[in-house]
Amino acid sequence: MAEVKHYPVIIVGSGPAGLTAAIYAARADLNPLILEGNQPGGQLTITTDVENFPGFPEGIMGPQLMDDMRKQANRFGAESKFEYVNEVDFSKRPFFIKSDSGEYTADAVIIATGASARLLGLESEKKYMGYGVSACATCDGFFYKDKNVIVVGGGDSAMEEATFLTKFAKKVIIVHRREGFRASKIMIEKAQNNEKIEFMLNKTIKEIKGDKTVNAVVLEDTRNGETMEIPIDGVFMAIGHTPNTQVFGDQIETDESGYIITKAGSTRTSIEGVFACGDVQDKIYRQAITAAGSGCMAALDAEKYLEMNE
Ligand code: NAP
Repeated sequence: MAEVKHYPVIIVGSGPAGLTAAIYAARADLNPLILEGNQPGGQLTITTDVENFPGFPEGIMGPQLMDDMRKQANRFGAESKFEYVNEVDFSKRPFFIKSDSGEYTADAVIIATGASARLLGLESEKKYMGYGVSACATCDGFFYKDKNVIVVGGGDSAMEEATFLTKFAKKVIIVHRREGFRASKIMIEKAQNNEKIEFMLNKTIKEIKGDKTVNAVVLEDTRNGETMEIPIDGVFMAIGHTPNTQVFGDQIETDESGYIITKAGSTRTSIEGVFACGDVQDKIYRQAITAAGSGCMAALDAEKYLEMNE
């Protein structure tokens, strides 16, 4: 039978939240194991320049930032395994975690599995991710000074991101698949009253075109299937996020959208000894720096919990 290895702390996920938790837990001599998941480094590995993470006046590439965070965690003794967690049992102590290639137990678990931006599922969207396609206006808007961009979606995020992008872009087109919006009235009105924003309703993106970066999209009318091609410099997806909590099933308390609920002012979850940080418990801020901050909190909360339960 395979050996079940025990760790004081296991961190599930390896974005800024998980890796910051690892740095702090390692420096507290807790020898944490990081189970990095399918996308080591998390969402930042699909962006290019990160210009809003403090400490990098010239900006830094997303993948580089995440590699550096991992190196920093490993330097203090955190162990990285590039494994995907597919089963947990939080009903007994120590907690049990099974990945695609190992079985583990832990006295404390830090969940930092993040959220995934929903995407349209086009091949061309994958191809141009970070090169004209983005799922984060706050991160990438700055690169579209005086350019024309599309925001896809009809919810609050789409309205907010479109309004934000008008600070930089010459024109922002909101492309939405139907006539009605999911967004709140006030957000729709704000977008409608912005002279830089245009709406193209009953449309979806059929294809994204470009050479090195995006230069056009093919739109399809959702009512009659007619297509048209328009030139564009960037496409921002704002069709929602999905928190990566499926593997925890109903073992941990989540809100109606699946985000883990943490106790106010802490990273404590409904299970004592299990902590959550980063986008998996935050649908509002979703920034690398806020994720990192909550990762630090999670490690400190876990350290305190372990001390009290020694
Ligand atoms: P959302 O409310 O779920 O809206 C997603 C939008 O994307 C919908 O309009 C949906 O169209 C569209 N969509 C989904 N899948 C699509 C697909 N495959 N192709 C084309 N369009 C697609 O997500 P959200 O806007 O990210 O908001 C999430 C939550 O955060 C909401 O509760 C929102 O109120 C909140 N939020 C609040 C603020 C704020 O108050 N400042 C800002 C941002 C977000 P359909 O409508 O046709 O389904």
